[in-house]
Amino acid sequence: MSPRSIIQLDAIRKVFTTDEVETHALSDIHLEIQEGEFISIAGPSGCGKSTLLSILGLLDTPTHGRYTLNGKPVAGLNLSERARIRNHEIGFIFQSFNLIGDLTVYENVELPLVYRGLPLGERRTRVMEALEEVGMSHRSKHLPSQLSGGQQQRVAVARAVGGRPSILLADEPTGNLDSTNGDAVMDLLKELHRRGSTICMVTHDQRFAQHADRTIHLFDGRVVEESFAKA
Ligand code: ADP
Ligand code: MG
Repeated sequence: MSPRSIIQLDAIRKVFTTDEVETHALSDIHLEIQEGEFISIAGPSGCGKSTLLSILGLLDTPTHGRYTLNGKPVAGLNLSERARIRNHEIGFIFQSFNLIGDLTVYENVELPLVYRGLPLGERRTRVMEALEEVGMSHRSKHLPSQLSGGQQQRVAVARAVGGRPSILLADEPTGNLDSTNGDAVMDLLKELHRRGSTICMVTHDQRFAQHADRTIHLFDGRVVEESFAKA
């Protein structure tokens, strides 16, 4: 079966205007991602990596250009269609975990499924499956503050995959972790990829980037190089 294009960016630009000062965060980005691909995005601080991920995840909109997701132009979607895609199709993992401090591990993973209106029984099955998968089911009643950073990030991975998204976006997911915990989170992402997830991960760490099928190198908001994994 030939791979299917899941994401297509054509001439994407993003300009932020603050106090009449323009920042060209992204300029003329062309990018096509196939279903099941594992992409890493590299480049120095401020080069537009997080902006690119936010646009891919429908958390932000481009100033110019065309984003086609699953064959549909994103610009043509109304607010509720955008929200549906964010809730159903996309899982996000952040550098700083972004768990909700006064919810338990279980409740954190459950929350996006509540937003989706899944019934209680199905939520319970999915939450426990996701926690099992990341090795955190024995911590389901803990609060995030009672966990190490590595454990919190594993919970964040469970939250992202509990909705069975078709695309996983990770913004420096190992950036706040020591190398052992970073390896553990990376192993989880590799396993998800092996099982067919499409993953787009920003990382500074060459050690982790080498696990990707392809690395997109950004500089000053432009793609300056693409490198492919050695076969
Ligand atoms: P990276 O993730 O590669 O460090 P970002 O995508 O966060 O880079 O930022 C790219 C550029 O856009 C930077 O110059 C940053 O200051 C600017 N930027 C990002 N978000 C905003 C915003 N909400 N408002 C204004 N400027 C922004
Ligand atoms: Mg960033």
